[in-house]
Amino acid sequence: MPLSGLEIYKLLPKTNCKECGFPTCLAFAMKLAAKQAELTACPYVSEEAKAALAAAAAPPIRLIAISSDGRKIEVGNETVMFRHEKTFYHEPGLLVRVKDTQPLEEFKDTVTKAANYSVERVGMELTVSGFAVENASGDPAVFAERVETVKAIANLPLVLISKNPAALEAAIAKLDGSVPLLYAADEDNWQAMAELAEKHGFPLAVRGEGDLAALANLVEQVKNAGVEDIVLDPGTRSPVDTLISLTQIRRLALKKNFRLLGYPVITFPGEGAASEAEEVALAAQHIAKYAGFIVLDHFDPATMYPLLTLRLNIYTDPQKPIQMEPGIYEFGDPTPESPLLTTTNFSLTYFSVAGEVENAGVPAWLLVCDSEGMSVLTAWAAGNFDAEVIAKMVKQFNVADKISHRKIVIPGLVAVISGELEEELPGWEVLVGPREAVDIPAYLKLWQN
Ligand code: SF4
Repeated sequence: MPLSGLEIYKLLPKTNCKECGFPTCLAFAMKLAAKQAELTACPYVSEEAKAALAAAAAPPIRLIAISSDGRKIEVGNETVMFRHEKTFYHEPGLLVRVKDTQPLEEFKDTVTKAANYSVERVGMELTVSGFAVENASGDPAVFAERVETVKAIANLPLVLISKNPAALEAAIAKLDGSVPLLYAADEDNWQAMAELAEKHGFPLAVRGEGDLAALANLVEQVKNAGVEDIVLDPGTRSPVDTLISLTQIRRLALKKNFRLLGYPVITFPGEGAASEAEEVALAAQHIAKYAGFIVLDHFDPATMYPLLTLRLNIYTDPQKPIQMEPGIYEFGDPTPESPLLTTTNFSLTYFSVAGEVENAGVPAWLLVCDSEGMSVLTAWAAGNFDAEVIAKMVKQFNVADKISHRKIVIPGLVAVISGELEEELPGWEVLVGPREAVDIPAYLKLWQN
């Protein structure tokens, strides 16, 4: 929990010597609290005060990263319980679990399909984040071979699952510069696991059995053994127990500054589900509250797509909608006679409209107005997509130089501005297009006729 200016002030020398560049210690403390000054500017801060201030400056949930060949999953560093309070920063990794007991061809097939899966949404490429390879056979050599197989196919970040430190060591030898998450230290093996994680500098998952106090004790032991990068598995699996434990962990970290649970969480929705559909529902719950790594037991494009979309939605800053660059966009080699449509620069709106203009197969121009990333009706209500704004965009992007006619199609939802827009654009005819993007192809075909 960050300290207030007054709390920082109490830790300063209070001599008002001005050497820090501020007239008083209090002024300096206020700037420190606002992160507009560095503590090093004061030469007289005691070691105790430095330690207290450094601890207060540490994030309540530690940032943990795993990586492979430039692909990285970073989780943690969250600062709020609810997305609407500010934003969620680091989206959870969605990983697919494969086991070293699966027949080799089936194993390779799952990895290949999941690794090659990619879908575009609002101009962004969404993919599977990585794999969790489990040493179900108990054989270190088989485990190492399968990890090597995954690396050869996918080279994505990995979670290595084994209770046996020797098996993890054998698999680590195949990694070649990657940073995996080691899963997991428990009451029985934590010393050897901590030693292994510390030796390689890898993050280590610590698994409890549903009791958060016992989990915190285990974390403390692992920390004392020298491991800094920790991921929590509270050991709960049912929907209700997992929701409770993940919420308690987040609350304790953020509201109570309880450092021993100030780490990201790993979940296994398949272990609490009776079916594949239930696994997806649980994974969705974990995306919303509050997983860092989500290990799925099934890969199916039909269920991966909604999970990736949900994750994108939850982890988009609500104050900064994904926006398109304003401008005039071309579809299918438009000519000066081609229709001109207009819409806002909210990416979801743009891609809905763009997709339907493409579907129409009619060459067209699309004027994307700067609506501060709002959708059509919201932007209109906020004054960001009114006649004045559209007319300004027509002029700013020299639209009249590109087309020979003087007709502009506005979304049906803002039909009410057509008269005003004709006043703003003398000599232009304003046409009211469909209310829904899905009706654009039929509308454009009429235009063609
Ligand atoms: Fe206070 Fe330190 Fe600034 Fe001097 S240098 S005014 S002691 S904060």
